[in-house]
Amino acid sequence: PLVLGIETSCDETAASVVGRDADGRPLILSNVILSQIEEHAAFGGVVPEIAARAHAEAIGGIVRAALHEAGVDLSGISAVAATVGPGLVGGLIVGAMTSKAIAAARGLPFVGVNHLEGHALTPRLTDALAYPYLLLLVSGGHTQILLVSGLGRYERWGTTIDDALGEAFDKTAKLLELPHPGGPAVERMAARGDPRRFALPRPLRGEKRLDFSFSGLKTAVRQAAQANAPLREADVADLCAGFQAAAAEAVRDRVDLALSRFRRELPDLADPVLAVAGGVAANGAIRAALAELAARHGVRLVSPPTALCTDNAAMIAYAGLERLEAGLVDPLTVPVRPRWPLDGGAAPLVGFGK
Ligand code: ATP
Ligand code: MG
Ligand code: FE
Repeated sequence: PLVLGIETSCDETAASVVGRDADGRPLILSNVILSQIEEHAAFGGVVPEIAARAHAEAIGGIVRAALHEAGVDLSGISAVAATVGPGLVGGLIVGAMTSKAIAAARGLPFVGVNHLEGHALTPRLTDALAYPYLLLLVSGGHTQILLVSGLGRYERWGTTIDDALGEAFDKTAKLLELPHPGGPAVERMAARGDPRRFALPRPLRGEKRLDFSFSGLKTAVRQAAQANAPLREADVADLCAGFQAAAAEAVRDRVDLALSRFRRELPDLADPVLAVAGGVAANGAIRAALAELAARHGVRLVSPPTALCTDNAAMIAYAGLERLEAGLVDPLTVPVRPRWPLDGGAAPLVGFGK
């Protein structure tokens, strides 16, 4: 079966066609992404109304491009999947209505996908790995450690009590006047800086619970920046290096604990895996910390290519494919859910008087 997936929850308009090869392995036939970074650049963040309008303008062409690149037309598609939450409501509506319209017009099944499930299943798209696995989800809006025990079965072991890690990178970049999105900009500057120059806090270090906290770190960067104003380029590089080192250490500390619990609670796995997903998984320092931990705990690290860690529609099409194969399709009455925790029920609520 081929699934057309649509992603419009934030600031990229994306469509993709995903199927399986003769051996049943996932196959990405197309993966088209239009980023709105330019539209939002002047505002230092995503403006919801601008995003919604840009999605509405782009979506038709992006879907056509995804079909064209995959070499199929709608008659070759078995189901349509779209992100229906969580995210910015205007964008979600554009993607949901477009995919529901296609499904209705062609008599195809519709699958409403949780964007976070898309991120969470990406390691299975790229590495065909089996359930269960431990997942570190580090994105712009989320920082969670999850036990992924099956499709729709996500046990949250830890989460951030304030900012998400990607958000902390973005806010740090903004206060240092680096371009948006901040993660790649901070990482580039960090490569030239001295991580030891500024003594930045290590939030929740040594705590026994698996939660994260990044707002204190961000505040410490702001105070150090103010104390050293006006900042020269070398100061910015040192602050970025210090921030990134503290962030990577926080991840190392929490994931270390989580891996101990994972190995203790599921000791008999033939192929124990730590997987990482979400845009921050692109960060080299964080990847290095995870690689070291995985080796020490005797688990395999699965880190999908960067292009599939940041927002894309292939992950939505793939989640749709798994759901279709499991018979988990949705009625066209499914509403969008701007807030929708991954462990808050497997399927979206059915709305509109049903
Ligand atoms: P969510 O999925 O939680 O709704 P999102 O979709 O906006 O959030 P993603 O697209 O998965 O998040 O990731 C974007 C985030 O990843 C941004 O915060 C960005 O700064 C961060 N990021 C991207 N590349 C890097 C990098 N090299 N280092 C650190 N952070 C990065
Ligand atoms: Mg984005
Ligand atoms: Fe995302």
